Amino acid sequence: MSQTYQIARLFNGERFHQDAWLTIDNGKVVALGHGQPPQQVQRLNGTLVPGFVDVQVNGGGGALFNGAPTAASIATMGQAHAQFGTTGLMPTLITDSLEVLRQGADAVAQARADKMPGVLGVHFEGPHLSVAKKGVHSAEHIRPLSEAEMAVYTRADLGVVMVTLAPENVPAEQIAELTAAGVRVCLGHSNADFATVQAALEAGACGFTHLFNAMSPFTSREPGMVGAALLDPHSWCGLIVDGHHVHDASLQLAIRAKAPEKMMLVTDAMPPVGMVGDTFTLLGREIRREGGKLTAPTGELAGSVLDMATAVRNSVRQLGVSEADAFRMASRYPAEFLGLEHPGRLRVGSAADMVLLDDDYHVVDCWIGGQSVFTK
Ligand SMILES: [Zn+2]
Repeated sequence: MSQTYQIARLFNGERFHQDAWLTIDNGKVVALGHGQPPQQVQRLNGTLVPGFVDVQVNGGGGALFNGAPTAASIATMGQAHAQFGTTGLMPTLITDSLEVLRQGADAVAQARADKMPGVLGVHFEGPHLSVAKKGVHSAEHIRPLSEAEMAVYTRADLGVVMVTLAPENVPAEQIAELTAAGVRVCLGHSNADFATVQAALEAGACGFTHLFNAMSPFTSREPGMVGAALLDPHSWCGLIVDGHHVHDASLQLAIRAKAPEKMMLVTDAMPPVGMVGDTFTLLGREIRREGGKLTAPTGELAGSVLDMATAVRNSVRQLGVSEADAFRMASRYPAEFLGLEHPGRLRVGSAADMVLLDDDYHVVDCWIGGQSVFTK
């Protein structure tokens, strides 16, 4: 049965429209217009925008994907993040044993076979990283890329596969092999020099994981991974805009240097997002939440408690990014990076993945494929 909504303000992924209407049928947008809608409608007060796409989600709603790599964990994470407007997510498995990697892949395959809403694929962040830039990843599991992991990454039943790796520890031939198999190779947790990063980009790497954090910095004689990322016009960068991971000025500079359309807001979220409580266990260590920050006992940042709606709000309010760019950095650009069909737009033929926001960018309603997944 079709459903028509009259919308006070609509952002269709390109521009804003006042007093629009939109009809959804069978999970898709089938008609769209201005002024008087053609039939009886439900009125939505606020701004309706394309649903957010988060390419880096470790946990949510109390679940940690590494802790329990199951389809049930993915469902809990999806429900937690839908409260903040996420309609598409990449469950992210950090550095772990081969067994956990396989369990995570099986869980994602199961979720996709069950048509769980919003599960776009899987992001393997590690284990082929630099020990020097490991952050909270466990050094014990950091290792070269063998045939066993290659077999997991190139499975055909996982949707979009992202692999974050350190190019100084993975030969360019393996990056080319992953890329040829359709894997989105991102660079991060790495101390690689500029030349090594450029060689990895030439081999097919197409993104950078949490730009600035856990990567070789930009300096005068050695532009590092940050310099290579900002200079390259083709690749995308994940940004954690939580006010703790990166200085606002560094983020502003990066967006200006590389262009907003190559930026993706990510949460790098941990279990506390969408849950009550201040501590959880990550790889056997207690992680504590203090305000908007998660820290390990040894002091390093351990992911974030950021959600996508807050990332959008921070981008507009703290970084001075335009509303249109902030919405696109949360939706259309990550969807383009993943190679999705009809990425991050609301137009005839698009999936009805959408979020209704109030004036303070808080989520009022969220739909995936036209089905309500959250109402405030
Ligand atoms: Zn990381």
